[in-house]
Amino acid sequence: MEKSEQIWMDGKLVPWADANVHVLTHTLHYGYGVFEGIRCYHSGKKKSFVFRLAEHVKRLFESAKILGIEIPYSQKEITQAIVKTVQVNKLDECYIRPIVFLGDNKMGLNPAGVHVRVAIAAWPWGTYLGDDGLEKGIRVRVSSFNRHHINVTMTKAKACGYYINSIFAKAEAVRDGYDEAIMLDTHGCVTEGSGENIFIYHKGMLMTPPLSTGILDGITRNAVVQIAKHLKIPIEDAILTRDELYVADEIFLTGTAAEVTPVREVDNRIIGNGKRGKITKQIQDLFFQIVAGKQAKFKHWLTEV
Ligand code: PMP
Repeated sequence: MEKSEQIWMDGKLVPWADANVHVLTHTLHYGYGVFEGIRCYHSGKKKSFVFRLAEHVKRLFESAKILGIEIPYSQKEITQAIVKTVQVNKLDECYIRPIVFLGDNKMGLNPAGVHVRVAIAAWPWGTYLGDDGLEKGIRVRVSSFNRHHINVTMTKAKACGYYINSIFAKAEAVRDGYDEAIMLDTHGCVTEGSGENIFIYHKGMLMTPPLSTGILDGITRNAVVQIAKHLKIPIEDAILTRDELYVADEIFLTGTAAEVTPVREVDNRIIGNGKRGKITKQIQDLFFQIVAGKQAKFKHWLTEV
């Protein structure tokens, strides 16, 4: 992991090496906290842009609301803190990780009275599923683990402890020689990857599982829906089954870390012609132009830092 210089912690910037917590930090034990993953892109003209910052800050606060955690800062303060963290670290391109967690003044499952703390780190982080993956596509397996049931955890929150489920799925997939896992819900319907939403293109229609399933409301998913509409590609929310993945013409995953990553194989079935599909490339190309500030129509998604 490439380090940066400073991390914002509870209202002030501290050196990277000093951004530590006590071993009895509540969230470390129970996973009860929320976080975000945000990317900042370089435009190539000495300018950098944070992609959809307002939407990420909003989701952080909504995740906290779902869990019943009150963040001791306003959305404006957190937004300013994120911008400042990127600026002081002099990073052209980076991944940004705000986390809201409970402190170490009280143990036990009742979170009432435990201090709510906030940290924001930013550091350089390249493509999540590999440069090769972005171009040639990745190989995925349907996981033996189900995505959380919507009344076991509340899946619209991006909560720390929820990621045990994603780690089970990801570790199993990588151990078995795949790049990523696709999780079904407890009814057997397709939900998403371990940290990405999923889209399939079949018979002229782009489809993605609806928000009423157990998916995270991905900000890249939302961007791709708008990009597809802009490109006049027919698109709809659809409940998808595992076998619909096998016969899809194209599949791709979306996420802040994964960006727009084509899928070339599912459970050892070749998808389409086994290469990045035409529609996938069209969406991917526009996505990368947008994040680099090269598309005036989508400039409102960018915050210059
Ligand atoms: N699903 C899960 C489980 C995730 O962790 C992520 C990454 N935040 C996504 C989907 C994609 O969301 P986004 O596009 O907002 O990064």
